[in-house]
Amino acid sequence: MAQDYYEILGIARGASQDEIKKAYRKLAVKYHPDKNPGDKAAEEKFKEISQAYEVLSNPEERSRYDQFGHEAYTSSGHGGGAYDSRRAQDIFSQFFGGGFGGGGFSFEDFFGGGGSRQRNPNAPVPGDDLRYDMDIDFEDAMYGAEKKLTIPRLQACDACHGSGSEPGTGKKTCPRCGGTGSQTISQGFFSIRQACSACGGSGQIIEKPCKKCAGQGRVRIQDSFTIRIPPGVDSDNQIRVQGRGGAGLRGGQNGDLYVVFHVRDNKIFTRRGDDLICEVPVPFTILANGGIIDVPTIAGKTKMRVPEGSQSGSVLRIKGKGSPNLRRGTRGDLHVRLIVETPVKLSKEQQELLDKFNASLTEANTPRTVKFRQEAKQFLRGDEE
Ligand SMILES: [Zn+2]
Ligand SMILES: [Zn+2]
Repeated sequence: MAQDYYEILGIARGASQDEIKKAYRKLAVKYHPDKNPGDKAAEEKFKEISQAYEVLSNPEERSRYDQFGHEAYTSSGHGGGAYDSRRAQDIFSQFFGGGFGGGGFSFEDFFGGGGSRQRNPNAPVPGDDLRYDMDIDFEDAMYGAEKKLTIPRLQACDACHGSGSEPGTGKKTCPRCGGTGSQTISQGFFSIRQACSACGGSGQIIEKPCKKCAGQGRVRIQDSFTIRIPPGVDSDNQIRVQGRGGAGLRGGQNGDLYVVFHVRDNKIFTRRGDDLICEVPVPFTILANGGIIDVPTIAGKTKMRVPEGSQSGSVLRIKGKGSPNLRRGTRGDLHVRLIVETPVKLSKEQQELLDKFNASLTEANTPRTVKFRQEAKQFLRGDEE
């Protein structure tokens, strides 16, 4: 044997287990004795590839083989000597799960899956949909905006219009399958059709691959364009940009691009559905006396009446000053939460004014304190002197 196991399977020395399996599968089906009755050369070949596969598919054996080389490995007794047909058949059965038509055998496994593409290999294949996650500012979500995007995606090659053939050349009938797109393999009583390995089932092969796309029919591009963010968009909302996904194959439609929004937090407004919440600090004098305060809304400043005797934390609603609704075009409400701001850094004079004011308070001015004292009486007892 002049060839080494890698050459026998037609694979590179660094081939992965997957590549080894694939190569074996292809060759084993081709040279199987049932398919080549009476052909001694094919039988020898079948034994060779089975032996090569047995060694290379076993990581330990493979590393010994790599270390010692083909000559040394085979003469040292590993896998050397006569390799009989039955052993080769065993490996074949192990690989195909009991042989053609045997238990556990699946056409899908054998031919690497395929489904609809196997049924009609010339059918157009739509391009992939793409997803792009976009962080946007709260303002852009409220008012809407236009944003420029650059998306890497596959586009139909303009040199060959997606055909994959060098301009001026075409496709020719696949020499292996004669244009039928399938190969028939007979195994004893069974005869199985599989997609042609040369043309992938299309029955045609490209005469001269397009230089620009290397015969792929598609090229990778950086696609720049502008999208419109609709007002009212919220986190996890998405918009579909039709046709901005991957290019299809064989005239298949482009996929779509889905832009998924993530709205950054805002310091002033918190969103809840279509409603917005805004906490406004208010001096206790205004909460006590009532008055007019300025309130920010996304449509600009507005004035709001604080009723006399408002408590800290109370919420006032301004209708129609919330977020726009993405679909209906209506607006939610703005909820203004009044938070008392305790005055700080008081001057002596201010402190005296407050002391004086405090001394003037009666129980009628502080019903909450009175109620609290009553309810907490048992817990407050003992603290009083
Ligand atoms: Zn091209
Ligand atoms: Zn073919």
